[in-house]
Amino acid sequence: MLGTLREKLGRTRQAIRQKFEELLRGNKTQDEILGELEEALILADVSLATSGKIIAALRSRSRPTDGFPVLEERLKEELVGLLGQYDPEFRLDGDPSIVLMVGVNGGGKTTALAKLAYRINAPDRKVMMAAADTFRAAAQEQLTLWGKKLGVPVIRGQYGADPASVVFDAVQSLKAQRFQVLLVDTAGRIHTNTNLMNELEKIKRIIGREVPGAPQEILLVLDSSIGQNALIQAREFLKFSGISGIFLTKLDGTAKGGSALSIVDELHLPIKFLGTGETEHDLEAFSPAQFVEAMLS
Ligand code: GDP
Repeated sequence: MLGTLREKLGRTRQAIRQKFEELLRGNKTQDEILGELEEALILADVSLATSGKIIAALRSRSRPTDGFPVLEERLKEELVGLLGQYDPEFRLDGDPSIVLMVGVNGGGKTTALAKLAYRINAPDRKVMMAAADTFRAAAQEQLTLWGKKLGVPVIRGQYGADPASVVFDAVQSLKAQRFQVLLVDTAGRIHTNTNLMNELEKIKRIIGREVPGAPQEILLVLDSSIGQNALIQAREFLKFSGISGIFLTKLDGTAKGGSALSIVDELHLPIKFLGTGETEHDLEAFSPAQFVEAMLS
């Protein structure tokens, strides 16, 4: 797994490694090295606040004689510690379990949902998907195509129907057919933000009423290729309560993979999954240590 992730994070790693190579060759003071490390983080799109915090922690742990190799190892430890401070476990402990996917259109929500369906679906854990974005025919169509490809049933509603009613129908199907997991794709129009948040709250309320304890997970899908703008989008979605983790998409082909650090640091949420491509196979469960190795080494 580390091999593939390393490959996918190639562009982010290049941005950082270039600085590291210079540091390895050069004869810099510790202060200068710390300054350069901070710059390397910023180049990989770690926010100013988060990179400042990481370097301050590194500085306070260093002895004056520590050179670059020692600092590099400590930096990795700091990054792993930061990324691992919230529990990344994906909980499907309900009977049945329901997962809501939320996020801005275009961020990769539908693809992320399909990847999860592919990963989870098994004879003893049957998965169903619900297309609750009833105002975007294309979104419903896309999920239906995924359903056919993966052999996973999709519940969809009439164009313009109340998304909560589609979810209600899906939950009834889930129970009647004794499936174990329902994955719900939701709308992501941010220009009507208040309405969207109300719509999501309503969906969540109906799920909780029909299946006590559900939804087990509410994953916020964020596009890593827009770097720190993902944080701005995320803050809008945090007005909606109960987000349990982040699904970070499009890590392949971006040099902005460092945004993962600011996302965890500033949103106080675990990253649970990484999207690394457009097919159902391009999914990684998040591991802080593997991520840091892939990003830096
Ligand atoms: P949604 O509007 O949030 O549901 O986004 P979609 O799932 O439709 O994805 C938007 C576009 O991003 C599509 O062209 C996807 O194939 C693409 N996409 C989604 N996830 C990834 C990923 O991890 N890597 C890459 N390279 N493309 C992705």
